[in-house]
Amino acid sequence: MALDLTILYRGPLSSCNYDCHYCPFAKRHETAAELRVDREQLDRFIDFLASRTDDYFSILFTPWGEAMTRRWYRDGITRLTHMPHLRKVAIQTNLSWDTTWAASCDRSRLGLWCTWHPEQVSCEVFLSKCHELDRMEARYSVGVVGMKEYIESARILRRNLHPEVYLWVNAYKDVDDYYEQSDVDAWCEIDPLFRINQRNYRTLDRPCRTGESVISVDGEGTIRRCHFIREPIGNLYEQGFETCLKPRRCSNVECGCHIGYVHLTQLNLDQVFREGLLERIPSRPLSNLEVIDAV
Ligand code: SF4
Ligand code: SF4
Repeated sequence: MALDLTILYRGPLSSCNYDCHYCPFAKRHETAAELRVDREQLDRFIDFLASRTDDYFSILFTPWGEAMTRRWYRDGITRLTHMPHLRKVAIQTNLSWDTTWAASCDRSRLGLWCTWHPEQVSCEVFLSKCHELDRMEARYSVGVVGMKEYIESARILRRNLHPEVYLWVNAYKDVDDYYEQSDVDAWCEIDPLFRINQRNYRTLDRPCRTGESVISVDGEGTIRRCHFIREPIGNLYEQGFETCLKPRRCSNVECGCHIGYVHLTQLNLDQVFREGLLERIPSRPLSNLEVIDAV
């Protein structure tokens, strides 16, 4: 039977052209040799996907830094979008690169999860990239970290984005009780799904699609069920790796990151996002309160 597998890929790359103060990673500068390893491992991953034409894959690149400033990620994603057995090829990015690159892709398979970092780039420059993506009819979501001092910037961004573009807000969770109710209300006006992200979910022993239809893969092909549980469950490049895919319950006490809890069975967020799950674009209508309130 053909596989239909979602893979969150995170290679060794861990550098970024920005330096956000809230960033938990991307503080490294790789040597040329380290970058070569990252490129070779990415090429191997893409060659593997290219060889599996009887299976279906959806890919989200979740680099530990910014990958789209690296030519091998841009070329690799372009290549993947032209493979008919790839359902979706998405990446998390700060959008600081030349967005005319999207013209080289089959945009029907491309998804961009774009984050605006107000201290690193002006709203005007960031918006100009978004509007270019609009002209090319590329699918993308846009978001900000919900620091209190960004609320007015986020409002300006919202007013100037195409109305159809979803603007998500990642709740800032490093400080306990960071938000007053008035803050929550303000962020909810910008992102109707903010409350979903604001919580950490108790997940111990709860069913989650990771490890069965969704996996995390690193540069060496090591398979983990998700980015948050370190125990390997297989290797993508070993014959018969599929045998490791099976229903599983979460072994962590909590899950509080969108790329994790979005696969938690009880939340039904696959019904909120549907085909935009990987690039974080909800299906319309966004005000599907029946689903959201069930959360
Ligand atoms: S753009 Fe992203 S990866 Fe880069 S420093 Fe900011 S938060 Fe970190
Ligand atoms: S709920 Fe989160 S931590 Fe638990 S298995 Fe799923 S993605 Fe991983």
